[in-house]
Amino acid sequence: LTSGLEAAWNKLKGEEVLTKENIVEPMRDIRRALLEADVSLPVVRRFVQAVSDQAVGTGLIRGVRPDQQLVKIVNDELVKLMGGEVSELVFAKSKPTVILLAGLQGVGKTTVSAKLALYLKKQGKSCMLIAGDIYRPAAKPAIDQLVILGEHVGVPVYAAGTAIKPAEIARQGLQEARKKNVDVVIMDTAGRLQIDKAMMDELKEVKRVLNPTEVLLVVDAMTGQEAAALVTTFNVEIGITGAILTKLDGDSRGGAALSVKEGIGKPIKLVGRGERMEDLEPFYPDRMAGRILGMGDVLSFVEKAQEVMAQEDAEELQSKIMSAKFDFNDFLKQTRAVARMGSMSRVIGMIPGMGKVTPAQIREAEKSLKLMESMIEVMTPEEREKPELLAESPARRKRVAQDSGKTEQQVSQLVAQLFQMRVRMKNLMGVMQGGSLPALSN
Ligand code: GDP
Ligand code: MG
Repeated sequence: LTSGLEAAWNKLKGEEVLTKENIVEPMRDIRRALLEADVSLPVVRRFVQAVSDQAVGTGLIRGVRPDQQLVKIVNDELVKLMGGEVSELVFAKSKPTVILLAGLQGVGKTTVSAKLALYLKKQGKSCMLIAGDIYRPAAKPAIDQLVILGEHVGVPVYAAGTAIKPAEIARQGLQEARKKNVDVVIMDTAGRLQIDKAMMDELKEVKRVLNPTEVLLVVDAMTGQEAAALVTTFNVEIGITGAILTKLDGDSRGGAALSVKEGIGKPIKLVGRGERMEDLEPFYPDRMAGRILGMGDVLSFVEKAQEVMAQEDAEELQSKIMSAKFDFNDFLKQTRAVARMGSMSRVIGMIPGMGKVTPAQIREAEKSLKLMESMIEVMTPEEREKPELLAESPARRKRVAQDSGKTEQQVSQLVAQLFQMRVRMKNLMGVMQGGSLPALSN
């Protein structure tokens, strides 16, 4: 989509104002780009019409080039189409808030259930999950999957086996949640490969029992233009309050995001960006528009990075660097923080202008992190805190090499690297605090 839109803007660069004639070609490109992003045709038509009307009606703004003006109109219209503002989750006035998740099979409902529980837990809310998928497609029992994920995020899961109907599980689960006095109950349900009556009937029954505050339709971002029909059907059949778009870390360009709100007027509330439990975020229409327009999802990246490197860790690290105490424990913490940021390729993909990093380079970087970890792991606590010990003693380096199965040369390199890092970081901190880089001596 990005390149298509860029071509459209470039065509306008020499023009003075936007006219009915000179926007024909850029608009055709935009139309094609949106169709390529798998936005449904009626949505594309309405969108192009709305943008064209506005563009021609807009007079020349001094100092703004026509192509910039068109970018702004397209951007604003995209944001509007996706709901304008962030749409927050609604919480019930009296406990518990009940969130029912629905959607086709494989879209990420069970994953989202646990992710959402973790997300709310981080906001200080107590949660409980209800395992409502009693079916066993393939070899993976869905209930077990939720129990495992629940354990992983530290949230209790109500599971009643596979012999009881989902509506009854819902009733029991809700009762349990009231007893436990939890803030939020999240119910995972079964999906089918396609919409069918049995699934809808089951969901209707569950919904009647739960009387949920939110009914969220989980939609795979790869669904593309079919998302419009999908959300419409679910909304007509069971009534939904919003959607969660999953797998945005994939190749999808966001066609589904454009179709959801347009179809039924219900907002996308959250997005899933990966298989990890931390990969759930609010849906920001303006950032999504930015992604579609090719600006890169920078803000999401910054937030993720901040979360990974918690504030206090960062401060502690800073004071250590300043006093040149940065040791192997810090080294390890840092490398692990990087690892936690998830697939590095995904993170790098979010930074504009970083497209040239190849998968091979990423694999290389990940490999070298692993190598360092294995050597640090066999160091004694004392050695980790005082890297000088290793720097001064070949015997210690030899032992680390033997215990980690690496060569003495590799250990020496690691030790040297730590000291280089101390110097580099100290310099960097100096620059950041208004100092200047020390002159290089040869
Ligand atoms: P369900 O059938 O709707 O419950 O779907 P699951 O939660 O079992 O997810 C199906 C698959 O999609 C699993 O392998 C998940 O790990 C994966 N998945 C879920 N959400 C995401 C996401 O945001 N990104 C990626 N890459 N994979 C996801
Ligand atoms: Mg499931």
